Amino acid sequence: MITDLIGLAWNVERIKDIEYKLVEDVQVEGKLAQRDFEYSGKRVSNLIMCMRKLAIPALLFQRNEPVDFISEETALYFSMGHALHEYYLDKFRSLGLIREQVFSRSTNNEDEIIGHVDLLTYDNKPMEFKPTRKAITEDGRNIPTHYIMQLGSYCWLVLSYVGYLIVLRIINPKFLVFKFTFTENFLDFVGYYLRYRHSMVKQVIDGKMDISELPRGSSWECKKCLYPDYCKMIDFVQQNKSLLQKRE
Ligand code: SF4
Repeated sequence: MITDLIGLAWNVERIKDIEYKLVEDVQVEGKLAQRDFEYSGKRVSNLIMCMRKLAIPALLFQRNEPVDFISEETALYFSMGHALHEYYLDKFRSLGLIREQVFSRSTNNEDEIIGHVDLLTYDNKPMEFKPTRKAITEDGRNIPTHYIMQLGSYCWLVLSYVGYLIVLRIINPKFLVFKFTFTENFLDFVGYYLRYRHSMVKQVIDGKMDISELPRGSSWECKKCLYPDYCKMIDFVQQNKSLLQKRE
C-alpha cells in the first residue's frame, strides 16, 4: 500500500522563514496603502466611511511611526473580498461594460475628490459591484446606506441621476441588480457631504484641528478596524478634554 510508504518516501518540514516573509508582505503592503493620505484621503470609498480610520494611519505615517501589523485573519478577510471583486469585474467586462474609470471633482480648497467607478454602462451610468455576506433581500429594502452613498457619490462625480448597484450575495448566493434614480437635491447633498468630510480630515492631517473633533464611524466598521487602540485614546482625550485643559 502506498500509505505504508508515507514517511519513508519523503520528509515534510515547515519553512517558517518563508511563512513570516509572506505574511509580512501582505500586511505591510495593505498598511502602507492606507497610510498614504494624499491618495486615500481623496477617495469617495474612504470618505463615506469612518473619518478617524482615514486620519489615524495618515498621522502615524506623518510621524514616521513603525508599521504595526494586521492579523492574518484581517489580511485574509480583505484579500478575499478584493479577489472576488476583481474576478467578477473581469467577467462583467465581457458583457460590453466599461471597466473601472476614474472621475474627479474639485473641492473648495483646490483639492479634488476622486472615485474609481467599477463599471460604466454604454450611456455613462455608473455601476457599483458589491460582493457581500449580508443577507440583502430581493426587494432591496435592507441595502446598507453606505452602499447607496457610494453609488450616489459616483453619480455625483459622473453627473448622472441614474446608477446601478450589482449585489453578489455570498451566503445563499444570488446576483441582484438594482437601479437607483437620485434627485438633484440628494446629489447636491452628497457633494456637500464629501467635500465637508474631506476638509475635516485634511484639517486634522495639516495640524489645524484635533483628531478628537472627528466623530466615530458606525459600530460595524469597528469590528474590522485596524486602529481600535488609537481610537480608544482619542475617546479618552475627548471625554476628559476639560480636565486636561485645566491642567495645562
Ligand atoms: S475603532 Fe471604529 S470609530 Fe474607531 S477608527 Fe476604527 S472604525 Fe473608526
